[in-house]
Amino acid sequence: MIYRFLMLLTLLSSNYLIGDLMKPTSLSKDLYSNTILNGNYLDTISHPDNFLDFDYGTRVASPYQIENAIRAYAQQSDRLKVIEYGKTHEGRTLFALYISSPENLTNLDNIQKSIAKLSDARSTSDREAKSLIESLPATAWMAYSIHGNETSGADAALGIIYHLIASKDNSVTNMLDNMIVIVDPMMNPDGRDRFVKSLEQYRGTAPNYDDQSLLHSGDWPYARTNHYYFDLNRDWFYLTQPETQGRVPLINKWRPQILVDGHEMGAQDTFMTGPPREPINTNIDRDLIKWGNVFADDQAKAFDDNNWRFYTGEWHEDLYPGYSFYIQFRGSLGILYEQSRMSEDGVRRPEGTIQSYKESVHHQFVSTLANLKTLEKHTKAMYQDFWDGRKYNVSKNSEFANQTFVVLPTENIGRLNTFAKKLQAQDIEIYLNTKPIQTKSALKQTGDSQENYVIPAGSMIIPNLQPEAPLIAAILEFDAEIIESVLEEERRQTLKNGSSIMYDTTAFNLTMMYGLEAVTVQENIQGNLSKWEPSKIDNTINKDALMWAVNGIDDRSVAFAARLMELGIEVRIIDKESILSDQNLPRGSVVVIEMDNPNFENLSSVVGSVASDLSISVVSIDSGFGPEELPDWGGRHFRLLERPQIALMAQQNFSSYDVGVSWWSLDHHLGIRHSMVNGSSVSYGDLTRYNTIIMPSGYQGLSNSEMSSIRDWVKQGGTLIAHNGSSRSLASENGIGSVRQISSTFDKSEAYNMDLQREFGALSVEIDMQKVNENKVDFEVEYPWEVSKNKFNKAQLEMRDKWQSLFMPSGAIVAGRIDNEHWLTFGTIDTLPVLYGNNPVLMTSNNSEAAVRVGQIIENKEATTYRTINWSDMPPNTDLNVKMSGLVWPEASQRIANSAYLTRERVGRGQVILFSGEPNFRGAALGTSRLWLNAVVYGAGLGTSPRIDP
Ligand SMILES: [Zn+2]
Repeated sequence: MIYRFLMLLTLLSSNYLIGDLMKPTSLSKDLYSNTILNGNYLDTISHPDNFLDFDYGTRVASPYQIENAIRAYAQQSDRLKVIEYGKTHEGRTLFALYISSPENLTNLDNIQKSIAKLSDARSTSDREAKSLIESLPATAWMAYSIHGNETSGADAALGIIYHLIASKDNSVTNMLDNMIVIVDPMMNPDGRDRFVKSLEQYRGTAPNYDDQSLLHSGDWPYARTNHYYFDLNRDWFYLTQPETQGRVPLINKWRPQILVDGHEMGAQDTFMTGPPREPINTNIDRDLIKWGNVFADDQAKAFDDNNWRFYTGEWHEDLYPGYSFYIQFRGSLGILYEQSRMSEDGVRRPEGTIQSYKESVHHQFVSTLANLKTLEKHTKAMYQDFWDGRKYNVSKNSEFANQTFVVLPTENIGRLNTFAKKLQAQDIEIYLNTKPIQTKSALKQTGDSQENYVIPAGSMIIPNLQPEAPLIAAILEFDAEIIESVLEEERRQTLKNGSSIMYDTTAFNLTMMYGLEAVTVQENIQGNLSKWEPSKIDNTINKDALMWAVNGIDDRSVAFAARLMELGIEVRIIDKESILSDQNLPRGSVVVIEMDNPNFENLSSVVGSVASDLSISVVSIDSGFGPEELPDWGGRHFRLLERPQIALMAQQNFSSYDVGVSWWSLDHHLGIRHSMVNGSSVSYGDLTRYNTIIMPSGYQGLSNSEMSSIRDWVKQGGTLIAHNGSSRSLASENGIGSVRQISSTFDKSEAYNMDLQREFGALSVEIDMQKVNENKVDFEVEYPWEVSKNKFNKAQLEMRDKWQSLFMPSGAIVAGRIDNEHWLTFGTIDTLPVLYGNNPVLMTSNNSEAAVRVGQIIENKEATTYRTINWSDMPPNTDLNVKMSGLVWPEASQRIANSAYLTRERVGRGQVILFSGEPNFRGAALGTSRLWLNAVVYGAGLGTSPRIDP
């Protein structure tokens, strides 16, 4: 009864357009007269209309209305079991509805056990498998509206739930006797709620059929994404958001035979479904493509019967494993729906007709029933194929058998634990070697092989020969194979019209995204391993110590510093490795010194409790003496930090994804106070409240007056951190500081090259003592720009750059070489994988520092002279690795070689820090995210002039 009362409330509050407004001449609910719910239904189950303040399907149901219906149905039906699998950031419940015969619903545990048995061919025989396949019901996971403004799916789901639990038709009840349908009706309720609110706000009296109107488009940050503006359909193996973190383990437990993912696309489109076109990730079992065609065939017939237009394939590819299609690597068939997006009312099309919202709901509804029917027909044959696939995965003859992935030991315990959690959520088995392991050879992340490689003790070992082999290969192989015909077509499109057939990033290797060093060994390593466990935390505190420290390699040390500073504690950072009281403290280690905090009560216990909140080990130190030349506690390497007071620019002109992930990173990694501010407020707001301003990637630069406010603020001591598009505008003539984009540097290329040669020279100093001690002038001194061949003049460089810029990556991983003395690179490995897209190519000169540059320097004994790449010269005996993973055309490698990924420049009393890319990409680029955390938390203390209160 509660829901009826709630419904009454909804009705009362829905008179939102009252007063002196004219009635419209027609209503959108009259556009489409077909009935969606046209079965014979039980009276005991409430029709969806009862939960809505409009006729079912004619408008967008709110998350609140859908939730009310679900809770009521849980009471009304014995064909339904409701699971709450998570809560969103905004506190909304995530539901999975198990719909089946009452008998099956009492037997769910056994069914799950049988599915688990059928999935592990190491402990199940063919005979057992045969009887499991005979007895198992079909399983389907039907999921909708992961993008909040793609609403028709969830509305269809509401009808599907009702149809399945209320129908008296034998075709439905017989199906449920042999099938468990799991409906995940609304995968992103926070986004949907934002969209429902915007529909409410932009609704006038008359229906609106113009897909350009705000009613249809919504506005910044748009409702596609979740609370932190994450695209949840890119998060299925990165697993950063509560929606995916709740959903994936449940799906993985069920291993549904099909997973339907109901979306919407451009308003003027029709309807698209699978199977996908190339590129298709080569680790996917090709049997699934076969089944994809079988399902599409039946679905197409259903559309034909209704006179509805549709298509398959076209732009639907399947290389990136972070879509809902991650389940294809686990043996389930993924089916994508893309319905043209009506928002509400309907959309007028070029042929003059109006397609109504209700029809779009009907398309999703009919597709769902068609797919369930196909599954009913073919479930046994699909189980057989599934079983064959599972046997193949653990067979000694599989393509995965002789391959093992190894993550090398690291002191970055926090990051390694996170990595392990993501793998374990996918049922991937991980091990530890307590002794070194000799191998024939190992492939490194940069593509080089090393013969007779010894895996050091304490590595994380992930044999590919295990039940989830295809998924392991997809996310841990260094490079996803893209077939030649796809590359040819990509190049053709790029040259002809500058477009790409790649729908997402072409690189996604998880160790590289995480900035963890790893190797691949072409053999199966399985003996003498123990189960991997997270290392033990020790934060016992000696309260009489002089100081307490945490290891600076561990990412959590940054949060440790930030949180202590917010509590008013003075914190220092050691910018050069030291050993105190026999404790090794790598550069970037954070220390709290009793002497710095004379008036802080319970200092040691606060330090201990902050460390234990972060699960990071603390060491207590009794002596400030670093032996021999190592830093001591009173010297210049123990640098005082300053509490960051952070503003994050947001709203129009900034990428909502990059704003969202920056915002999430502050809350997720640090949990300290900060302000999201309207980007346009910089010219009138009080910027002195902040000492650190973050400018996420922006679409257009600041106006002149905004730029000058920010410039003044920097000069007075501010730390300005910018990403991608915003870095592009700051690196222009009207920007701040001396960093420039490459296209404007060709008249000074020699000067840029000279700066670079200084860096190269400092990396490997070789002295000829005889020449140094010679009194006479040496007439034969070599200068790099004189000995290198193939130098290019300005006109040539400009031509090359214009051509090369056509080939910029659409999301690939390139090698970053770090300045390992720079504070921005604390906690970072020497060759840092960096995600690179169509970013600004940044150039530093004398005043500005490149903390990370593109390209790993490797040895090449055959290169006997300086060699030129565009503007830069590589010294003798060297080569440069640029590409690490994904599609990087040779032209792009040349263009970005030796440019800066991360720059830092002193401006007045403050500084400007520019990232060429988006360092926190999808919350999963933990390698570059660490650079960003260093900038945000340490920037105010390390890069600016200290403030002393008079
Ligand atoms: Zn979508």
